[in-house]
Amino acid sequence: MLRRALLAASASSRLRRLITSAPVTRAVVDSYVAGETADDAVRVTRALRAAGLLVTLDYLGEDTKDPAQAAAVTDEYIQLIGKLGAEGLTHGGVAEVSVKPTAVGLYLDAGTASRNISRICAAAREAGTTVTLDAEEFGAIEPTLRIAGELRADYPDLGCVVQSFLRRSEADCRALAGHGSRVRLCKGAYSEPESVAFGSRREVDSSYARCLRALLNGPGYPMVATHDPRLIAITGSLALLTGRAADSFEYQMLYGIRPAEQRRLADTGARVRVYVPYGGDWYAYLVRRLAERPANLAFFLRSLGSRS
Ligand SMILES: Cc1cc2nc3c(=O)[nH]c(=O)nc-3n(C[C@H](O)[C@H](O)[C@H](O)COP(=O)(O)OP(=O)(O)OC[C@H]3O[C@@H](n4cnc5c(N)ncnc54)[C@H](O)[C@@H]3O)c2cc1C
Repeated sequence: MLRRALLAASASSRLRRLITSAPVTRAVVDSYVAGETADDAVRVTRALRAAGLLVTLDYLGEDTKDPAQAAAVTDEYIQLIGKLGAEGLTHGGVAEVSVKPTAVGLYLDAGTASRNISRICAAAREAGTTVTLDAEEFGAIEPTLRIAGELRADYPDLGCVVQSFLRRSEADCRALAGHGSRVRLCKGAYSEPESVAFGSRREVDSSYARCLRALLNGPGYPMVATHDPRLIAITGSLALLTGRAADSFEYQMLYGIRPAEQRRLADTGARVRVYVPYGGDWYAYLVRRLAERPANLAFFLRSLGSRS
């Protein structure tokens, strides 16, 4: 309920002004976001790599309605891939990029988004790495999967994301679990009506387990994105049961969340990738992270109250 209200409030420009101008916000942002520039992103990537972790980088921003902005976001990704490549961080997919289709023009028209994503894929291939298309709100899912399907003819390793909170997702997993596919499975960070989404945590978690089984049973490369200890344990057991080699799937977690668990899993020989966001447009990302954890939200609101 609180989560739903907060996600809805994230569209409020008054709340955005209050949160982005509060001095205490900076410390919270820094715990989830690598910094403002591509150089910050590269620095954090280097450190995570040294700790034995893989990385996917997200240039923050979404819902672009301006073609020039969509082109600028595309250029930023290409420049970032160049910087990572120059440091040898893209080789073998050590660091890849995550792209939100609405940040590169999905809401302008699908052709613009597709051309921009294709440019990023070409730069990634040149550097020896991959691209994953994030899943956003429900309205963006179908066009995103269509673009991914079309671009996979040229870039078979283009990854996409399935959100277990959507009722359609188990069927999506079965359709996407084919040979060579890279599919990230997450719970879903958006708020959607019960007509398309499961309402309770229990339903979302059991949908996650069913999706996981479909992906691990297929011949593709599952990317298991969760911090949930139970689902991480289930992944380990299913991987054993299905005879999965440690390098045939990976765990993924967000920058700043459960870092000790990220290292623990990597120390067991598992592939672990950290999703690292950077850039100045962090507001919507921060609100989604606060909405996920009431304890974070309560702490943040108390700090806002005591300092304003
Ligand atoms: C690598 C990665 C990529 C993602 N990509 C997408 C995407 O493309 N589209 C999309 O809709 N969503 C995406 N998400 C977000 C995801 O959908 C969830 O909203 C988020 O991961 C929280 O769900 P959970 O599976 O960790 O389980 P939860 O049940 O939310 O959390 C399990 C435990 O993890 C810890 N935890 C979770 N969140 C926080 C937090 N914010 N702060 C501190 N501790 C926390 C707590 O210990 C909590 O008990 C992604 C998540 C990851 C890890």
